[in-house]
Amino acid sequence: MRWIVFPFFIMPSLTYAQEAAELTLVKQVFAELQPRSIRWNREYCGYIGYDADGTLSASRPTPGKRDACLPDDPENLGTIVASYHTHGAFSPDHANEVPSGEDMEGDEGEGIDGWVATPGGRLWYIDTEDMVTTQICGIGCLPMDEDFQPGDMGHIAQSYSYDALVKKLEDGGV
Ligand SMILES: [Zn+2]
Repeated sequence: MRWIVFPFFIMPSLTYAQEAAELTLVKQVFAELQPRSIRWNREYCGYIGYDADGTLSASRPTPGKRDACLPDDPENLGTIVASYHTHGAFSPDHANEVPSGEDMEGDEGEGIDGWVATPGGRLWYIDTEDMVTTQICGIGCLPMDEDFQPGDMGHIAQSYSYDALVKKLEDGGV
């Protein structure tokens, strides 16, 4: 029998715990922001990171515009790991159920990952190391717009590479 020692065996559980904590926090942030974002039809944005005590925290949300949001500097965070933002209310004129190419580029430019909430209550994670965005949970997972029309953007995949996402949005989001 051969014995192979993988010192990193300990890592998956640690990483899993961190990811689970981040997901719980992000869901709390969006549970509060989604009703506001939908009601006022504007984006809200901020950051997730660690404060001076090493506690995982969210920065205070900045209100943005209909389809843009520039977060304030997160004064409570020493280390930033991800951005977060909402996508406002449902509109058949906007392809809002997926992140945008600019969303992925922005996070990549800052060297962080990202979280996006959609009018349909979907939660997306943007991994800028692989430049892939993945639907963490689907319609109604977060508070959603009651006027949301499922299927408005055609089939929405579980995940998109940056190139596939840009192509879908170029095709009119359908
Ligand atoms: Zn966006």
